[in-house]
Amino acid sequence: YGPEYVRAIAPYQAGKPIAEVAREFGLDEEAIVKLASNENPFGVPPSAVQAMTAAAADLGRYPDANGFDLKGALSKRYDVPAEWITLGNGSNDILEIAAHAFVERGQSVVYSQYSFAVYALATQGVGARHIVVPAKDYGHDLPAMLAAIQEDTRLVFIANPNNPTGTFIPAADIQAFLDKVPAGVVVVLDEAYNEFLAEENQFESAEWVKKYPNLLVSRTFSKAYGLAGLRVGFGIAQPALTDLMNRIRQPFNVNSMAQAAAIAALNDKAFLKQSATNNAAGYQQFTEAFDKLGLQYVPSYGNFVLVKVGNDLAAGARVNLALLKQGVIVRPVGNYGLPEWLRISIGLPQENAVLIAALTKALAQ
Ligand code: PMP
Repeated sequence: YGPEYVRAIAPYQAGKPIAEVAREFGLDEEAIVKLASNENPFGVPPSAVQAMTAAAADLGRYPDANGFDLKGALSKRYDVPAEWITLGNGSNDILEIAAHAFVERGQSVVYSQYSFAVYALATQGVGARHIVVPAKDYGHDLPAMLAAIQEDTRLVFIANPNNPTGTFIPAADIQAFLDKVPAGVVVVLDEAYNEFLAEENQFESAEWVKKYPNLLVSRTFSKAYGLAGLRVGFGIAQPALTDLMNRIRQPFNVNSMAQAAAIAALNDKAFLKQSATNNAAGYQQFTEAFDKLGLQYVPSYGNFVLVKVGNDLAAGARVNLALLKQGVIVRPVGNYGLPEWLRISIGLPQENAVLIAALTKALAQ
């Protein structure tokens, strides 16, 4: 553990920024379509912009370190005491805080192959061992993950829906897993994409924390709520876990503008509905086009689709470059061990149409 250990950690690969692609490929920034980071194509809800404008007057002061108003709003929404909530600088912060709070150097963390990249980073960041369980149909194999838990395992990460594959685990399967997990193992149920789920797939995971003292539910304002750039996420867990997390979290990890915007977004049901409706239509638009192009894709429950763009190991990188040249930014997933695939975020209908046309052209080359 130390600089040499840290040097061996592969850094997180974020989607290419629009300005960088414009410069690199000699394109107009306005002409670029970015479907790379599972962002909300509607941007920030106008209600949140208004709340931020009001909050701006107070920026000379530190943020509320305990997020009283935001936690109050979340506590009402999820019917849990405010003390059960931990705020994060994005939900990445929650994942990292959990690793710091619950895992010692040398102990182990379990997560699935093809699951979110930050699980590996959070694990490595505390000098822990990772136990990566082979995926089943590109998603989590919960019985295998349960069997993989060792004596020294302290944390399990589950993404539902999962990024980058978009797979979904039904409520009954997760509950069966929680019923069997040893008491000393904290389960992080990462539901970053929860709000995109159709009603029949929604379940009250926040209620489960009342039953399972080792469950931490993680949510974010980055996706359906449209606040990715502000960095706000939160965890819900019983006080024994929350107390530890709050001891090591940075005191002002969620800034004042973000707190104000998150409260407004939480109350903006119309925006959330618009996001989910657009997403469902965009998914249809994408999958119909992929079917026409004869492309394999993983059925997705998130705001993105993982699509196989060729059979050779260079396919993802090749098609990605062809798309970039046409001003379309998507996410290659070679770093996830999926070099034949691309992850494409669902945008507005017009953006999706641009992607489909560009992909069609790229594949014909
Ligand atoms: N969990 C999953 C599964 C994600 O895909 C992401 C975003 N890429 C996050 C957590 C973190 O998002 P944020 O930090 O913006 O809340």
